[in-house]
Amino acid sequence: MKRALVCGAGGFIGGHLVKRLKREGVWVRGVDLKFHEHAETEADDFIVGDLRDQAFVRSVIDRSFDEVYQLAADMGGAGYVFTGENDAAIMQNSALINLNVLDACHKRNIKRVFYSSSACMYPEHNQLDPDNPNCAEGSAYPAKPDSEYGWEKLFSERLYLAYNRNYGMECRVARFHNIFGPEGTWEGGKEKAPAAMCRKVAECPDSGSIEVWGDGLQTRSFLYIDECLEGVLRLTRSDFEGPVNIGSDEMIAINDLARLAIEISGKDISVNNIPGPEGVRGRNSDNQLIREKLDWTPDAPLRDGMEKVYAWISGELERRQSQS
Ligand code: NAD
Repeated sequence: MKRALVCGAGGFIGGHLVKRLKREGVWVRGVDLKFHEHAETEADDFIVGDLRDQAFVRSVIDRSFDEVYQLAADMGGAGYVFTGENDAAIMQNSALINLNVLDACHKRNIKRVFYSSSACMYPEHNQLDPDNPNCAEGSAYPAKPDSEYGWEKLFSERLYLAYNRNYGMECRVARFHNIFGPEGTWEGGKEKAPAAMCRKVAECPDSGSIEVWGDGLQTRSFLYIDECLEGVLRLTRSDFEGPVNIGSDEMIAINDLARLAIEISGKDISVNNIPGPEGVRGRNSDNQLIREKLDWTPDAPLRDGMEKVYAWISGELERRQSQS
């Protein structure tokens, strides 16, 4: 039976990945600082602990795994990553996790490790035009990410690929572009734009208004979780080490994302733009490389995913109200 380790299994993408691997009949060990907040884990074995602790990491990686998925990171949405207040913690915490996990895998002779980098590592100067951002993989250097989160991702990408070159490992590196879906963070400051919009709209009374950070003309693309996992597994099991974008190329302005959530709700709500952290002006996934190397690209419409997230967040709010 194939065995996999999912680091960050208590998080959004890790939680979904555990379910997907279980559906494939894989034996799965999950590890995280915490249990999953929104669903019972389906992992065969779930260990709670801190991957910044080298001794703990060695105790988790105490056997051979066919596949290791390293998704654990200190991360959040714009309200966490772009304010500058969490820079030292983000760099220290995530770099330690990556150093520890990769080294423990190497010492156990584990070859296949998937690492989730982020589109946040792309240079800020290529993302100034909201209508025409450049996020082709080859545009990464000369580097100038707009956040320390992005710099740590860049460092760690290089770390994984250096272990491939020097130690014969087979690490696979993807750059995720805004992954969204049910059972993700949707309140508290670490939530991403799709969940934030759906929550604001679900909480807003008819004919009210919701606040959107910035002028709302900044653009992004958002990839639904199921397609993200398809890309992760295809890359991990391929001969291509990456780095490669895993994202949608359906770009949308943030105000239009808000309007999409409003349309789905059926409510009459207006958008009120206020100052706030907003990151780069434009970002979109360039999918030429993934198409070429994996013969696959995601193609589900954004609206389908937003409908599912809106329904899930509305359900969470109703459940909470009925309990109070
Ligand atoms: P998430 O925050 O839901 O999951 C990360 C998990 O890592 C959390 O459950 C957290 O508790 C765990 N973790 C953090 N520090 C830890 C530690 N010291 N020891 C053990 N566990 C620890 O985030 P996610 O959205 O599931 O993202 C997964 C990965 O994908 C991250 O590496 C993130 O940087 C990357 N990524 C995500 C997106 C996105 O849109 N969700 C975009 C780009 C990159």
